[in-house]
Amino acid sequence: RVSATQLTLPHALDCPVTLFATPDVPVQRAAAQELTTFLDRLTHLPTLQGRTPPARLHRVALTPDFHKGAGIPVGTVLHTEGVLFPEAIGNDVACGMGLHTTTLTRDDLEPHLDALEDTLRRVFFQGQRRLSTTGKQREAVLRSGIGALVDSPLHPGQSGLWSRVRDSLPADARQRLHAGGQLPVLSVPAHLDWLREPHHLTHDAQLGSVGGGNHFVELQYVHRLLDRGTAHHWHLKAGQVVVMVHSGSLGFGHLAAQQARTAAQAALPEDPVWAALPVRDGGPAHQPVMDALNAAANFAAVNRLCLAAMAAQALSEHLPGTGTSLLYDAPHNFIWPDPAGGWLHRKGATPARGFAGMQGTPFAFTGEPVIVPGSMGGSSFLLAGRGLPEALSSASHGAGRLRSRGEAMRGHDDEFHAFLRDFRVVTPLDWRRARPDIQAQKLRELKQEAPFAYKGIGPVIRTLAESGMAAPVAELRPLITVKG
Ligand code: 5GP
Ligand code: MN
Ligand code: MN
Repeated sequence: RVSATQLTLPHALDCPVTLFATPDVPVQRAAAQELTTFLDRLTHLPTLQGRTPPARLHRVALTPDFHKGAGIPVGTVLHTEGVLFPEAIGNDVACGMGLHTTTLTRDDLEPHLDALEDTLRRVFFQGQRRLSTTGKQREAVLRSGIGALVDSPLHPGQSGLWSRVRDSLPADARQRLHAGGQLPVLSVPAHLDWLREPHHLTHDAQLGSVGGGNHFVELQYVHRLLDRGTAHHWHLKAGQVVVMVHSGSLGFGHLAAQQARTAAQAALPEDPVWAALPVRDGGPAHQPVMDALNAAANFAAVNRLCLAAMAAQALSEHLPGTGTSLLYDAPHNFIWPDPAGGWLHRKGATPARGFAGMQGTPFAFTGEPVIVPGSMGGSSFLLAGRGLPEALSSASHGAGRLRSRGEAMRGHDDEFHAFLRDFRVVTPLDWRRARPDIQAQKLRELKQEAPFAYKGIGPVIRTLAESGMAAPVAELRPLITVKG
C-alpha cells in the first residue's frame, strides 16, 4: 500500500528513487538539486564494475522530512551492493533517538516542574557531571558499547551515575538497542586515542553531553494513544511521563566520520572524489572504516543511555523511587547490512522494520518502535514500523527543517524569549544571571531550532501512516526540554 504522495525524481541512474512527500510542503528545490548532484556522481558507478564484486545502487528512498543537508539531503536512504558510501550518512555518525518510559504521570510531575528546571540545569550543565569513568572504561565503551557497562567491573569509588546507567538497563536491553548496543571494533582507531586521556577531553566530547544544535533530552507525557494494543505491549499509558533523547557521537563522531572518509578515499586512490568503499563477499574490505563508524555508534548509544540516566537522576531527586525503562534506541545516521543482501545507508532516516524484520525481539508482534520528534514546544510521535519495501523499511526521524538556520535566526527576540520560558527550555545559560550579550548570542543559536524552523509534524505523521511506512501509536507533548 503506497500513497499517492509518492514522487519519482529525475536522475540518470537505472534505479528507483522514491520520495514520500508531505502534501502540504513543496519539495525543497535545494534538496532535490543536492540529491541530483549526488546521484549524478554515482552514474560513474559502472566504472567500479570489472572489480570484484560489481558495485550497484539498487534503490533510493526519501522520507517525508526530506530537506537539504550538507552533501546529501537529510532523509535519504540508499540500498547498495558491493560498495559503501561513508559520506552518505552525514558527519554526526550514529546520531539517534532513544525513548524511556517512567513510572510517573504528568500529574505527579506537574507540581515539581519549576524546581526541576534548576535540577536539570545543574545535572546536565553545571560542572559536576557525576560520570567519572576510567580510561579503561572509556576505551571499553568505544570497543564494546554497552558491553562496557554490563561486563566490566565497577571501579572502586565509581560514580553513582555509571552504576545507575548500568542498573537501569532492562534484562532484554540488547534487543532494544541497534546491533545489541555493541558493534564490533577490532582496533580503536589510533588518532581517536584522545578519548582515553581525560586532559584531552573537550567539553562536548564527554559522555553525558547533550551536544548542541537540535540535540535534546525532553521530558514528555503521553497526550493520547492512537493504537491501544501496541501501546499496551510497550507499557505506555495516557498521561505517562516519558524521556526522549536525541544525541549523536559529538566531536568524537566527527573525527570518526573524517577518518572513515579518508580510509574510503585511500581504498580507491584512482578516484578519490568518490569516497566509495568497495566491499567483498558482503564483508567490509576496509576494517578501519568500519572500526571508526562502529566505535562512534558504540559511543553514541552509551551516551544516550547516560543522558537518560541523568534525567532519571534529576527526576528522583524530586520524586524518590522514580523508575525508568528503555523502550527503544536506534541511530538515524548509519550503515546497516540488509538481511536480503547489500547495505542500507540512512542519513536522517530511522529504521522502521515490520513484524517479519523484528522476529526474535520484543517487537515481533508490533513492528519496530519509530521515534519521531516534532520540535521543542510541539508534539512528537511514537509509531510502529511496517517494513515498507519501497521505503527500504525506513521512516522519518523528525519533522524536517523548513527554514534554514540563517533565516530562522532573524527577529522575534522577545517573543522567542517568552516561548523559552513558557515551554520550559533548559539551557546551560541561567537567564536570570547571564550577561545580555551572552544571552543574545544563545538566543540566536536557539532560534535556529525554534518550532517555526521546522515543518509541521502532523503531515509528516500522516504521510508515514498513509504510505504504510509506520503506524502511529502515541502522541507525546513536551513538559521540559534540555538543549545543549
Ligand atoms: P536531526 O537529527 O536532523 O538533527 O533532527 C531531528 C529532528 O528533531 C528535527 O527534524 C526536528 O523535527 C526535531 N527536533 C529538533 N529540536 C527538537 C526539540 O527540542 N524537541 C523535539 N521534540 N524535537 C526536536
Ligand atoms: Mn545529530
Ligand atoms: Mn539527529
